[in-house]
Amino acid sequence: MEVEVRTEWLSELKKTDPEMFDAIKKELDRQRTGLEMIPSENFTSVAVMQASGSVLTNKYSEGYPGKRYYGGNQFIDLVEKAAIERAKRLFGVVHANVQPYSGSPANMAVLLALCKPGDVISGLNLTDGGHLTHGWKTSETGQLFESVPYHVKPDGYIDIDEVRRIAMERKPRVIWVGATAYTREFPFEELGKIADESGAYLVADIAHIAGLIAGGAHKSPSPYVHVITTTTHKTLRGPRGAMIMVTEKGMKKDPELAEKIDKTIFPGLQGGPHDHTTAGIAIALLEASKPEFRQYAQQIVKNARALADELMKNGIKLVTDGTDNHMLLVDLTQFGKGKGVFVQDALDVAGITVNKNTIPNDPASPFYPSGIRMGTPAITTRGMKEAEMRTIGKLIAEVINEVKGYELPGDKEARQEYLKKFKAEVAENKKLIEIRQKVSELCSHFQLYPDINP
Ligand SMILES: *Cc1c(COP(=O)(O)O)cnc(C)c1O
Repeated sequence: MEVEVRTEWLSELKKTDPEMFDAIKKELDRQRTGLEMIPSENFTSVAVMQASGSVLTNKYSEGYPGKRYYGGNQFIDLVEKAAIERAKRLFGVVHANVQPYSGSPANMAVLLALCKPGDVISGLNLTDGGHLTHGWKTSETGQLFESVPYHVKPDGYIDIDEVRRIAMERKPRVIWVGATAYTREFPFEELGKIADESGAYLVADIAHIAGLIAGGAHKSPSPYVHVITTTTHKTLRGPRGAMIMVTEKGMKKDPELAEKIDKTIFPGLQGGPHDHTTAGIAIALLEASKPEFRQYAQQIVKNARALADELMKNGIKLVTDGTDNHMLLVDLTQFGKGKGVFVQDALDVAGITVNKNTIPNDPASPFYPSGIRMGTPAITTRGMKEAEMRTIGKLIAEVINEVKGYELPGDKEARQEYLKKFKAEVAENKKLIEIRQKVSELCSHFQLYPDINP
């Protein structure tokens, strides 16, 4: 039987739930008219969204291809096997689990598979750019295991000597390499040697840079590490999800590694996999294996470099004075401490979405940090190139200069009041509103989802 495919996007939803329809339509408009510069975000393809919104959401398929607990999984098996094979090929690994619900549970699964509670683990400290799940104290990974974090040096680069010292003295069972706020290439090879000497498992969390690796714009960790985890929705440009991969080196160290990880995901941590997401991941992996995606990955980095250069020309300081990847970390301490919140909100008014972030040796707190993190993956997906980065760099510098005089009160009680007043003022700020119009104008030349009309 032929099934009629509806082409009007969200037409059913509009009838069923006008409230949700309205919210989604507004979010689409927001994405279209502003500059999305949060480095962990991207615009996935319509093909990926179609799979994510497909009938696969109806199915239960606990287990793995060929070994399911429920019947009727012959087509789901095709989907998951394709995703696994594509991941193996693209990242040069011998095993892939595509079922983790997202990056954080994937990382927890790796720790549970490799460690016992109380074992020592080591990752890049959160306020130095590391991820919560690499052992930060408020994450369960920092509660369940003994976390001995390493740091960046004053120049902003990973302190490899410190990693070596921790590895030899504290013998962590797992060493993480990966970050959410690090703008340089990761020293996979050096850390691989350290892990070999100390006996640790080295796990690369490539959540941010998976797309750059797939597209050849960042070195692959696969020859040097035992396990690789990644989200699928950042530079890889797939649906929200994650993967855990085991390398040849990992299987040599422990022939049961793949099995241990699979068992920890299911039945250890999760129930039925999200098959609609698995299909989206498979599609994203196919897209990422094409020559166009190689170009996309190279352009992300070119754009980040052009943006970095323009910001620095306009007197804005960057951690490590530049970038090797998709991300920039702006150091606002020349204007005072804890300025991130003001710049984030002012950029929001101007239609430029970024996030406040700690910088190495931040003089303020993680909640009121002194930096801003921004990235080029999403605006590169829209087709923007170096010339637009120059324009955007100038606009960002103007916004920073517009609000650099705001000062966070030392008294905690006074802060909320001050921030409220600040928000009201920037919402009315003429200069910022003028920049907002320039941003909308720029965005109108780089259409997002031109074929989608809710
Ligand atoms: C985003 C990210 C994660 C977590 O992913 P979620 O899907 O948000 O749980 C883990 N590690 C790194 C390095 C990340 O950047």
